[in-house]
Amino acid sequence: MPDKERSADRRGFLRNSGRALGFVAVGGVAGRLLSNASGEKFVWQINPAKCIQCGNCATACVVAPSASRCTHDFTMCGYCRICSCFFPPDAPKLNEGAENQLCPVGAIKRSFVEEPYYEYSVDQELCIGCARCVKGCTAFGNGSMYMQVRRDLCVDCNECAISVVCEGKAFELIPLSKQYLPKGAPST
Ligand code: SF4
Ligand code: SF4
Ligand code: SF4
Repeated sequence: MPDKERSADRRGFLRNSGRALGFVAVGGVAGRLLSNASGEKFVWQINPAKCIQCGNCATACVVAPSASRCTHDFTMCGYCRICSCFFPPDAPKLNEGAENQLCPVGAIKRSFVEEPYYEYSVDQELCIGCARCVKGCTAFGNGSMYMQVRRDLCVDCNECAISVVCEGKAFELIPLSKQYLPKGAPST
């Protein structure tokens, strides 16, 4: 098989390997949920189309570190060698050294796939929700990194403290059954 086709196969495998969203839906949630007259339960979630990466997700949540974290849709990623989620514009070198990384807590892992492709994954336990990587990906990349409220960390405040200060007015109440708003999904 020609090299070019092999590369396409490899990237196709990565994109279809069931890891499209960085975290999965969970059954249990904490707190007392908002509900409508018919008893349907609602939770706060971020509409990624409205997020302008203001940074308030990291500081305004009642949970610390924030229940709002970055996720990565591998089906949208270009697997770029020089990734604007990973490297700041003034990175001294284009390698994995801590001094070359945009993420303040080193939560993004960069792995070589094959020339010229690299895979980027978010360590959810380290992420503090600062949205710096999302800003880089939105400005210069494919927009494959975006913010979502993790349902297993959110305590479902009646008035989400982040929504009050969210500069993009990106927080929406969605049915509990949906849990997340993957990119491209219509808002409710
Ligand atoms: S840059 Fe910020 S939002 Fe992105 S992975 Fe790191 S801590 Fe999370
Ligand atoms: S509802 Fe409360 S816990 Fe959940 S994201 Fe908003 S401020 Fe954080
Ligand atoms: S507060 Fe709103 S605009 Fe700011 S990073 Fe969070 S979701 Fe995006």
